[in-house]
Amino acid sequence: MPPGEFALIDRWFRPLDGRAGQGRPDVLLGIGDDAALLQPPAGQWLVAALDTLVEGRHFPPGSEPRSIGHRALAVNLSDLAAMGATPAWALLGLTLPSTTDEAWLQAFAEGLGTLAARHGVALVGGDTTGGPLTLSVQVLGFVPPGMALRRDAGQPGDLVCVSGQPGEAALGLRLLQHDATLSGAGTAAQRQQLRRRFEHPEPRLALGLALRGVASACIDVSDGLAADAAKLARASGCGLELHTEALPLSAAMCGVAGVAAAREAALGGGDDYELCFTLPPSREPELATLAARAGCALTVIGQLTADPALRLLEQGKPRSAPWQGFDHFAAERSE
Ligand code: ADP
Ligand code: MG
Repeated sequence: MPPGEFALIDRWFRPLDGRAGQGRPDVLLGIGDDAALLQPPAGQWLVAALDTLVEGRHFPPGSEPRSIGHRALAVNLSDLAAMGATPAWALLGLTLPSTTDEAWLQAFAEGLGTLAARHGVALVGGDTTGGPLTLSVQVLGFVPPGMALRRDAGQPGDLVCVSGQPGEAALGLRLLQHDATLSGAGTAAQRQQLRRRFEHPEPRLALGLALRGVASACIDVSDGLAADAAKLARASGCGLELHTEALPLSAAMCGVAGVAAAREAALGGGDDYELCFTLPPSREPELATLAARAGCALTVIGQLTADPALRLLEQGKPRSAPWQGFDHFAAERSE
């Protein structure tokens, strides 16, 4: 049986509410009343996002609670990163099975709390109920007026870029699920790197900030690179041309899955929480400086086009791509 609802909130979540050492004087009233009282900075725009993770759908049943806590916040911080926002506050809707124990809660709170502390985020409230394990997090952050990165402002001719090595997380998930086609391939360190990318994705907040005033459009990669790049292109009223050979594949991806499967993971795998963004070709020389500031690789993988078609070229020849990504209400992934 889980501990009582109030004891649970007091013990594991109240310490994360920004007042006790988390250093957020803008939390006027945190956890404990009917609602939190927060002081947004004068003149800034508020940026709000919410994402839900359901056991068995967004992470395998029996996943490490530390990873669940980390991911529940990370996927939301990634949405703020993609807007070029600075995160400030979070609320947690927690649905727990009756079998939840203190050890699980401790590890969950540590996973969430460690990431929150690293980015100066206070957990200012939430709700706790019983039922199938489900985590719903709302994050709030700020952006100077007019400075948000949006997905709808790309221009034909803009270069399409991506951070990190998308596809690592999808291969890591397959390893966690003991996918037989990957059995024994790659070194132990490579396998560990991929699993870690799924279990502890790093939201690209520093990159989002660095891209303010530089990127023409931005989206985070949650459903798969091809699908999310296509969403950006569509929102911007453009088509898209991507080049398979340009995809940034890590040694770990190639070692564990081979180059061909690594490419498919890079195009179609989800859960990376990298940023896909566009910028005018004249700004390409700035990419090296941006990468250094953000602490991650940045790679040009294609461009936006005036022609509305979505094209993936492999050695100059068009091929199919998973443009649709994952749809919870579709029967299955489509090509
Ligand atoms: P109420 O019944 O007034 O809605 P609750 O009992 O739901 O109050 O919550 C009490 C306090 O604990 C509130 O401040 C609420 O925001 C906070 N809280 C509840 N669940 C969580 C949670 N999972 N994480 C963070 N804060 C929570
Ligand atoms: Mg309530």
